Amino acid sequence: SENLLLEFIKRFPADRSRPFLVEYDGSEVSFASLLDRTGRYATVLAAKGVIKGDRVAVQVDKSSDVIALYLACLQLGAIHLPLNTAYTGDEIAYFLGDAAPRVFVCRPDRLETSRDLASKNDVAAVLTLGTNGDGTLNDEAATAAASTDIADVTRDDIAAILYTSGTTGRSKGAMLSHGNLTSNALTLHQAWGFRPDDVLLHALPLFHTHGLFVAVNIMLLNGGKIILLSKFDADDVIERLPKSTVLMGVPTFYTRLLAHSGFGRDVTSNMRLFVSGSAPLLAETHDQFFERTGHKILERYGMTETCMNTSNPLDGERRPGAVGPTLPGIEARVCDKDGNILPHGEIGVLEVRGPNVFKGYWQMPEKTASEFRADGFFITGDLATLGDDGYVTIVGRDKDLIISGGFNVYPKEVEEIIGDYDEVGEVAVFGLPHPDFGEAVAAVIVPSNAAGFDEQELIKRTQDKLAKFKVPKRIWKIDELPRNTMGKVQKAQLRNEYADTFT
Ligand code: ATP
Ligand code: MG
Repeated sequence: SENLLLEFIKRFPADRSRPFLVEYDGSEVSFASLLDRTGRYATVLAAKGVIKGDRVAVQVDKSSDVIALYLACLQLGAIHLPLNTAYTGDEIAYFLGDAAPRVFVCRPDRLETSRDLASKNDVAAVLTLGTNGDGTLNDEAATAAASTDIADVTRDDIAAILYTSGTTGRSKGAMLSHGNLTSNALTLHQAWGFRPDDVLLHALPLFHTHGLFVAVNIMLLNGGKIILLSKFDADDVIERLPKSTVLMGVPTFYTRLLAHSGFGRDVTSNMRLFVSGSAPLLAETHDQFFERTGHKILERYGMTETCMNTSNPLDGERRPGAVGPTLPGIEARVCDKDGNILPHGEIGVLEVRGPNVFKGYWQMPEKTASEFRADGFFITGDLATLGDDGYVTIVGRDKDLIISGGFNVYPKEVEEIIGDYDEVGEVAVFGLPHPDFGEAVAAVIVPSNAAGFDEQELIKRTQDKLAKFKVPKRIWKIDELPRNTMGKVQKAQLRNEYADTFT
């Protein structure tokens, strides 16, 4: 059997009383109790009729129980289907309709509405799961025997359906196989040099690839240990950094830590590795972080559909603004729209191939077919360059490309320049319809301090650094960039909000 759960158990420490995870309140979960809970959940799910290939949809707050629930799905050969906790009734209705799960596990306070949605969508059972060991799943698990059978699956069997973040449109369900997840977890565990005594500080959500398939899978392979935070809070993180060795975060984690006066060398002296991904990390942030802590953030690049594709090296140059070479076993190329490979250094669409690449979008065969080349490369939709040295640089999404007066403007280039100014904390550059140019470049910034900024002065300064067609015609000051739960800037929202500016 090529069940991912077997890969994990194989590497659990001989002494299963060792901690796998430390909860927010300091209590520890051992490997033995994690496995026991997993086995009990598997029994409860099986009693609801869950068999191999069935979906188990999960929308609950973060706790160690969610990890056991994920493992229980693997154990049964069922498909774990986590949902963003921010989704509301209508969105959940869509996902339940789309995924047709056998069981839906929701928050205790959502039982009524969930039952309603479930009955309309042919979901056989609704269970609840709270963050303090509460909920009907735990109630039933308390009297259930822990199953030890592990379903026989092949590497191509689906282990999870993960919905994409919905940054560019409606979320798509990416089908990830046991083989996809196993290969990527093993690759990352090796590439980032995990050691038995590593302690990972976990502040990411558990419904997204970064927090689940990067962070948790690596630590399950590593034999522990995770310090679990319910969410990112700079004070909580700073308090626990001295007991941790690895932090994985989205770029906003790092900008928020830098904005905190209590953050610096002393609290990071025990740390071995800071990883960033899910959204672009400005070179400026990388540099400031290095100045403040002496640590070079390791930036990697991936997506829901592929897990991780590239990573800056553990040893070797961690290049600010770049996402590093492809991970072992993964190929990347940069192509034009028709799939012709472009020379090194030219900007085009990044395509990837490897054991990490997903099996397709759930119930979207045409969409799946159109995103793959005949030779198996997956078209990521991200614009990038590939250097002679193999380093990949992401310049943005093809959907965010601005075409002004017939010229391509890559928002990231403009963001790096504006982000360099001291008075600018955060910046997002996007295109707006313009009667003369087709599209015009525009930007919003969040000032770094109360002193504020002078729009014309900032525009004037960018004129010295950028060709005229790349210079923003307007720069607005806002309090906060519109980001989703993964810290991704919602550029479609910005484009909508300012749509009438020039027309
Ligand atoms: P949707 O596909 O639904 O529009 P999404 O693409 O944001 O949403 P995810 O799969 O969570 O959903 O995100 C993957 C994307 O995140 C990548 O395609 C890329 O655009 C971006 N990304 C991830 N890591 C990096 C990085 N290090 N630098 C720049 N962009 C990154
Ligand atoms: Mg995407």
